Amino acid sequence: MHSSLALAVLAGAAFASACGDEKHFQRVRRAAASSAAASRTVAAGTSAAAAATAPSRTDEASNAQITNAAEECTPYSYPPVAALQAAGVFPEIWEIANLSTAQPDVIALFQSLNGSIPNIAPKGTAIGDVCSLRYVLADDGATDPDCWWTYEQCHTPKAKGLQSDVYNLATPETWGLTYDDGPNCSHNAFYDYLQEQKQKATMFYIGSNVLDWPLEAQRGLTDGHEICAHTWSHRYMTALTNEQVFAELYYSKKAIKDVLGVTVQCWRPPYGDVDDRVRYIAQSLGMQTIIWSDNTFDYNIATLSRATIEGNYNEILNGGKNGSYAVNGTIVLTHELNADTISLAEEFLPKIKEAFKYVAPVGVAMNNTEPYVESGYTYPNFAQWTAGTTSISLAAPIAVSTDASLSIPLSTGQTGSVSATVAYASAAATSSSGSGSGGSSGGSNGARGSAQGIVGAITAAVVGAIGAGAITVLL
Ligand SMILES: [Zn+2]
Repeated sequence: MHSSLALAVLAGAAFASACGDEKHFQRVRRAAASSAAASRTVAAGTSAAAAATAPSRTDEASNAQITNAAEECTPYSYPPVAALQAAGVFPEIWEIANLSTAQPDVIALFQSLNGSIPNIAPKGTAIGDVCSLRYVLADDGATDPDCWWTYEQCHTPKAKGLQSDVYNLATPETWGLTYDDGPNCSHNAFYDYLQEQKQKATMFYIGSNVLDWPLEAQRGLTDGHEICAHTWSHRYMTALTNEQVFAELYYSKKAIKDVLGVTVQCWRPPYGDVDDRVRYIAQSLGMQTIIWSDNTFDYNIATLSRATIEGNYNEILNGGKNGSYAVNGTIVLTHELNADTISLAEEFLPKIKEAFKYVAPVGVAMNNTEPYVESGYTYPNFAQWTAGTTSISLAAPIAVSTDASLSIPLSTGQTGSVSATVAYASAAATSSSGSGSGGSSGGSNGARGSAQGIVGAITAAVVGAIGAGAITVLL
């Protein structure tokens, strides 16, 4: 297997479930149909009667009071988001993002990066079909030349200059609590439960879900959870083109910024599907890749029995009890995907607290007290957390809901890094030139409500060229 022509055929048990399997994606996707969301988690039933007495769905606090799941999952129009979509600020939700409708400065940002992105061809299909993929080894015979997580769970990049993925915790005896695929339209009861438990988690929100359920997304931040991105449309990222990868990450980050008011600096690849090409683009957009070290497989509950998922949970719990995490804590993959995964989360949280000394969001365990670009959102460090401080300081608990600029910090520690500053102006904003940040003008579009027509600056991280080496992937 040390020949440059050697083939590593992706087959066998480890990949069987990935071949042509779109089940997970189908469950996540709202499929544009208004009835789909309501029927996903609850039986249909409410309608006019419920609507007649429905609390307001115009602000986070009122929306958080809704307890009827069918009502929660009834689509609603949130004017600031509707205005953003009408103005063409975002790609089509739940479709693979691209830059066909992007502002010129966003395109310029991508083009400034594109030439230095590692030359790795896309793998398989966007729905995870890698059955026909032949993963060719590098000339030096090294296996997994792209550090493709899906292949052998590689998390230490082969390309120079890239940060390693975060997959476990330096703090021992710690369960890094994460929930993916939200915001779930019917998560109020779950978030109420987490509040009662004084438990915060890291929430990986899908950009399309944030626009579908903006007030639910706002609740995640308001409740003090740590927010990270989970792409725009939840596809297999290594299958996408450079432009699509960039757009999936950029617009998920922007959806969270526009709706929640914070610029996230972390993301988790759907299905863990990341390689050095995708890592490079994410890092250039100021996003740390977060994977996991333990998987409950709760997202497979439709095909696996609940008992199987409970067994997976229990296996991790046993590790907590028998010293398996005495050196490093674990980051565990769990979901707020549907009623079943939420019910499992509630069933097991007390058991997790029994089996593990600490249960904390990933950022807290990493002493990342200011996880967003914006200042004023201060989370406790791990010592404060373990001493009982679980609340966060919020400078602005409610969304700005405007077409805001994205501040993308220069990646640190890169050799040959250069910084490019690109002015970003919304369509409704009064023109402003130059690269200064923070300039603003009164928005003239009444439909945008409080929109300020902010003209800010995107500071792009354009890191030095990363040699991709003699790597070839055949499809
Ligand atoms: Zn996911």
